[in-house]
Amino acid sequence: MIVLILGGTTEGRLLASACVQLPGVVTISSLAGRTNDPLIPAGDLRIGGFGGVSGLTRYLGAQKIDAVVDATHTFARQMTEHAVEACAASGVPLLILRRPGWTEQPGDTWHRVPSLPAAAVLLPELGKRIFLTTGRQEIGAFAGLDDLWFLARSVEPPAPPMPRRLSVLLDRGPFTVEGEQALLTAHRIDVLVTKDSGGPAAKLTAARALSLPVVLVDRPAPPPVPLVPSVEAAVTWLRTLMTHAPAGDGRSAGGDGQRADPADLGLG
Ligand code: NAP
Repeated sequence: MIVLILGGTTEGRLLASACVQLPGVVTISSLAGRTNDPLIPAGDLRIGGFGGVSGLTRYLGAQKIDAVVDATHTFARQMTEHAVEACAASGVPLLILRRPGWTEQPGDTWHRVPSLPAAAVLLPELGKRIFLTTGRQEIGAFAGLDDLWFLARSVEPPAPPMPRRLSVLLDRGPFTVEGEQALLTAHRIDVLVTKDSGGPAAKLTAARALSLPVVLVDRPAPPPVPLVPSVEAAVTWLRTLMTHAPAGDGRSAGGDGQRADPADLGLG
């Protein structure tokens, strides 16, 4: 069985490591190519966009992909939409792997907003020194807030438009609670802005300890396809698919050119 993992996340890498251990599975991970020095997953790798829905549809056919796991970041909305459309058009089973979002805890002061522009509208009434951990791509949402000072942390440098009073910290996690607390204190941060990505939450724990308000951008609603919260559950899904796939000729469990119908499996 040939599995395409749409990656760019820790879960994508962990799933690739698990898949290469599965007998009869060929694993291809796909990265968007946004970072110059990506963490490389196990198994085969391709980098760069597919060329929209039609490009991905062609790729699925050309590579004889038997199953796709969309393990992209929760906020990589376009890639997920393309995967849903291309897999439906190709009859390839699709699973979404998403880590659960964060839950507010006692001591938290969270302001949930639907988008980064909505976060920008809220900020002036919450503080003056803002820690942005929303990634570099949409930092333009905060341009024009000239009375505020921003510290933005990202893996790659952001590009204009950007806030006028901005300091950029190039760094990649994992981060510790102690480190996050020291960073927030050193820069006299009074508001944290983040997307509800889920996963390790040292920055949220640090903000709670310092009684800082957090502006949390809600995640987009998931599409109506099977979704699991863990790598283990994704492996179970793949195992089930392999069990139901027609016997193949080697490289793919469905290597006779046929695919198990996801609807028959209750998986599609
Ligand atoms: P996006 O807006 O959903 O995708 C834009 C385009 O980038 C897609 O249409 C596709 O191009 C290409 N692309 C995205 N992910 C790809 C993948 N895994 N393999 C091949 N092409 C991919 O995505 P994004 O928000 O820019 O995120 C890009 C990547 O960074 C994703 O892989 C995601 O997992 C990772 N990431 C995103 C965030 C975030 O906050 N958005 C955070 C951490 C990591 P074509 O249309 O040409 O196929």
